[in-house]
Amino acid sequence: MRKLIIIKYGEMTTKKDNIGLFLRKLKDNVTIMLENEPIKITYDNGRMFITCQYEHFESVLNKLKKVFGIHEIIVGYELENSEIETIQEALKDLLTKIEFKTFKVETKRSNKNYPLKSLEISKILGGTVLKEKENIKVDVHNPELTIHIEIRLNNAYIYFETHKGLGGYPVGTLGKGLLMLSGGIDSPVSGYLAMKRGVKLEAIYFESLPHTSNEAKQKVESLARILSEYNNEIKLHVINFTEIQENIYKKIPHEYLITIMRRMMYRISEQIARKGNCKILINGESIGQVASQTLTSMNAINEVVKIPVIRPVACFDKLEIIDLANKINTYETSILPFEDCCTIFVPDHPVINPEISKCLEYEERIPYQELIKKAVQNHEIIKITKQENKFEDIL
Ligand code: ATP
Ligand code: MG
Repeated sequence: MRKLIIIKYGEMTTKKDNIGLFLRKLKDNVTIMLENEPIKITYDNGRMFITCQYEHFESVLNKLKKVFGIHEIIVGYELENSEIETIQEALKDLLTKIEFKTFKVETKRSNKNYPLKSLEISKILGGTVLKEKENIKVDVHNPELTIHIEIRLNNAYIYFETHKGLGGYPVGTLGKGLLMLSGGIDSPVSGYLAMKRGVKLEAIYFESLPHTSNEAKQKVESLARILSEYNNEIKLHVINFTEIQENIYKKIPHEYLITIMRRMMYRISEQIARKGNCKILINGESIGQVASQTLTSMNAINEVVKIPVIRPVACFDKLEIIDLANKINTYETSILPFEDCCTIFVPDHPVINPEISKCLEYEERIPYQELIKKAVQNHEIIKITKQENKFEDIL
């Protein structure tokens, strides 16, 4: 008998034609995630198996909980064969280490030629357990311990412990997307949700030195680092937005500042995305949250690009977004009080229903194509790798 981790794929098994691609990506992602762990990966139809030394199980398990595309993680035992006596002996041995008062046995049989049916196997093994332990009873509805038995073609598995995986698709199976990453709460959550659907992230951040601080940038790097745990590493494009923003501030009526600024951000993001083969933009816009996120504003802003813009939190309440931000551990970093470029140039009365014709008219006052070209050509790229996040550095 040997202890091992069994990975179940879940939703991706419904993608019949692409299953090869999905499995290869999942294997790559698991291998990268566990690169410092002495493990061995093997496959059987529909499953991935990981073996390692006992002392590494916990850290391997915790890392697997951050890999998208995994539906369930099972810590189990593989037996040499599937004979009922072998299972009984293994069960007796394993039960000496576990305390419980109620239990049930659940059997799955993928080997349909096995001489006993699933229910019969459960019954026999239930009897074995009752004989082995004192003061225990069967409870099929709400047992303290569920003993899972799986009968495969040449062997069998016993397990008691299952962990929920993150679900979704392996990151990268759907190609790449460019996340507009501000230091706020919404955009990291949006990035997480896009990764869940198999999108590998690059990120773009607009800074306006000296109006924004270096700490604001470090905060964005910290957020990217947290996200990179699911993505292996993130290429962060940092755009110097100062000149564009100052031009807008000087030459455009202030109620249109944000609308025009966001149109510029979209234009630049589209160019960076195309260059890096990113197929979509992703951002943290949420319907109605601020003036620039009314439906009319979204039209006026979205109008400048052709690339699809995905807004994973568009229909979430702020509280729902915060809840997710806490779960993925970005919230505490997001609420650090360093202003990014949007908050500095916020007018008192931003337009709620901007008109596209006015946007076009105002934009003629600045040489924006030239400025955009310059910003794209000179931008900085930072490779963010998954290490401890540098949160402390910026406190
Ligand atoms: P968040 O929405 O992430 O909490 P925020 O409220 O500061 O941050 P908004 O002004 O609501 O951001 O902007 C909406 C979205 O536009 C952000 O979620 C983000 O995707 C993008 N965005 C805003 N500012 C920047 C920036 N400086 N760099 C990159 N993307 C940005
Ligand atoms: Mg927001």
